[in-house]
Amino acid sequence: MQLPKQLITELSERLAKNSIDLTPEAALSYSYDASKREHLPDAVLLPSSKNDVASIVTIARKYHIPVTVRGAGTGLTGGALAVTGGLVISMERMNKVITIDPDERIAIVEPGVINGDLEARLKKYSLSFPCDPSSAAYSTIGGNVAENGCGYKGRFYGSCSAHVAGLVYVNDEGTFISTGYFNKGQNTLSERLMVGSEGTGGIIVRIALRLISLPKEYSTSLHFFKSSSEAVKCAQKMIAYGKPPASIEYMDSPVLTAIAPEGHKYNCAKGTCALLIENCDRDAVKVGSFGNSPTRSIIAADANERAELWAFRNSISSKLYNIKTDKINEDVAVPISRLDDFAAFLDEKAASLQKTQMFNFGHMSVGCFHVTIMYNASEEGAREEALNVVSEVMHKTAELEGTISCEHGIGLSKKEFMKLEMNEEQLAFHRRIKESFDPESIFNPGKIND
Ligand SMILES: Cc1cc2nc3c(=O)[nH]c(=O)nc-3n(C[C@H](O)[C@H](O)[C@H](O)COP(=O)(O)OP(=O)(O)OC[C@H]3O[C@@H](n4cnc5c(N)ncnc54)[C@H](O)[C@@H]3O)c2cc1C
Repeated sequence: MQLPKQLITELSERLAKNSIDLTPEAALSYSYDASKREHLPDAVLLPSSKNDVASIVTIARKYHIPVTVRGAGTGLTGGALAVTGGLVISMERMNKVITIDPDERIAIVEPGVINGDLEARLKKYSLSFPCDPSSAAYSTIGGNVAENGCGYKGRFYGSCSAHVAGLVYVNDEGTFISTGYFNKGQNTLSERLMVGSEGTGGIIVRIALRLISLPKEYSTSLHFFKSSSEAVKCAQKMIAYGKPPASIEYMDSPVLTAIAPEGHKYNCAKGTCALLIENCDRDAVKVGSFGNSPTRSIIAADANERAELWAFRNSISSKLYNIKTDKINEDVAVPISRLDDFAAFLDEKAASLQKTQMFNFGHMSVGCFHVTIMYNASEEGAREEALNVVSEVMHKTAELEGTISCEHGIGLSKKEFMKLEMNEEQLAFHRRIKESFDPESIFNPGKIND
């Protein structure tokens, strides 16, 4: 897309000198996210303040140039990619924690604050923002809120939406819209629509977060089971019991083989699956009382051992690259009562693959399976097989009345499957909501409902 000269002139007049990067190197650097798709923007903008963002939107709208807002680019569905070119607005310089108010239990942050950095600051006050994606060390609060992300403790504490107390966002006219905490508790309907809007409804420039007390005590344990069915049924029973642990992380047999190969202290027999369980400020429930007893259990005795168990769980994502070069990572979720049916379907599917390998893990307390398919893009037919598996997984999820996205959003990669969740009338209604926020379609065009 050829950017009008006048647009660049006006942006240069309003923004600081080093806020506009028109080089091909910048375009390339901001052309991809963790979905590994690539779309080159025509310019990269690096605002330092909310006023900068409002100026950018006002000028972009005047020239009908699309704007795609970007946090840290850890998104797995291509949400931060400028599919139709135009301007990418990176929030990396808007990374201030403005206030932490321990009495109100509120933190006010700019959207570019890294989740893990905020958590480290909150620790001093024994407070926490409990939306803890595995990408917490890299992803931004703005990106977390825009995706309505969650993480290991999603059921226990809720996803981002449960902790947003208020927003300020820039609408399509370049006006600041305040909600909730920033607006005497009002305008919460538009706030709810902005959380999870994936950059398609406006640009979030301030976030008020509701904080919780940092748990004082954790009990963390890793349990191995003979089969996926035994592990998953144990998780189902724990949830049905009514006081589920804060985290119930499932790892299937191929995952365990990948992260605990021969010689590793957690190496186990083929077919073994595991649950990593964590309770916060609550007595640990006896895992063996929920169906079949584990074949082996490791109980963390102290903070170091707890960290070791989580490091083991968190090694999945990178260790899978030892298997094959390319990855597709999905985040479907099914009702808790269907977890066992879905795990059985995945086992069967995994056994039938020729050119790809499937690895399944996920947050059982919210019914989420991170179905991960590894393949070598250079191998003929491998990517096709991977995409076919994704499609089958999506259809099975819909058949079990689950959802195609638990926490990663729709972005580009899941757009084609939206029709499995919503009929034409519902999709059209969603498009009308998007049009009412963004009648000229300048915010992140080509995503979700487009
Ligand atoms: C190894 C790994 C593990 C992960 N684990 C998890 C997990 O456990 N749970 C989970 O939920 N996700 C997980 N993710 C996915 C990803 O980290 C999240 O979706 C995260 O919330 C994205 O944040 P980001 O800052 O990288 O946003 P980006 O990827 O840059 O953007 C994501 C979307 O948010 C929009 N956006 C960003 N900032 C704003 C803003 N200020 N205003 C409006 N819209 C905005 C963008 O336009 C885009 O649509 C994981 C990713 C990786 C690579």
